[in-house]
Amino acid sequence: MSENLVLVNGSCNARCCHCPYASNSATACLSGEPLSYIENVRSDLVILSGGEPFESRIDTLFNYMKACVSAGKYFRVATGGHVRLHPYLPYMKSMPRFAGIQLGTDVLLPERNANSLRHRAIWRENLSQLNDLNIGFGITMTVDNDVEFEPVFDLLGDVRPDFFLTNTMNDGAEDLEKLRSSLKLRYPEVKIETGYTA
Ligand code: SF4
Repeated sequence: MSENLVLVNGSCNARCCHCPYASNSATACLSGEPLSYIENVRSDLVILSGGEPFESRIDTLFNYMKACVSAGKYFRVATGGHVRLHPYLPYMKSMPRFAGIQLGTDVLLPERNANSLRHRAIWRENLSQLNDLNIGFGITMTVDNDVEFEPVFDLLGDVRPDFFLTNTMNDGAEDLEKLRSSLKLRYPEVKIETGYTA
């Protein structure tokens, strides 16, 4: 786990089959003042994450964002992409030090999520709004045996993220390299990073 990840919610309603955070009750991961956690992050960029941060009480998430601003740190929010972001994006965009969104892809894949078809519609809606509002975003992709990312490529269409963040679940270095090569071919202009934050 990267040391600039701050878990603002320890659960997620999307219930991907492989995920330790999959549950349907919002759980705060941290107790105490957000500012004290944020000030201790040894990076200028904080990733507010979960579970699903947009399923925490929204004032909780906003308090973490405000704490980042107070601490003089840039922040990005990592979401599964299955929650509608449009009520929050304009406010987030107006905040100083907002560094965009990191969209997960697990909810889109039938191998990982039984409701992937339903999630795809909201994910695509979020993508369009990020694009329309000119908010920077990255796409996280985690390889595993036999997972097909075609649904992600289809949904991206002509939209280009700022970066891809690539990971592997089972130390599958070969699978990871395959994914990175395929991304390089399809999206030569997009940065490809490895890890959970970029
Ligand atoms: S969207 Fe992410 S956090 Fe939520 S269940 Fe799926 S993998 Fe876990």
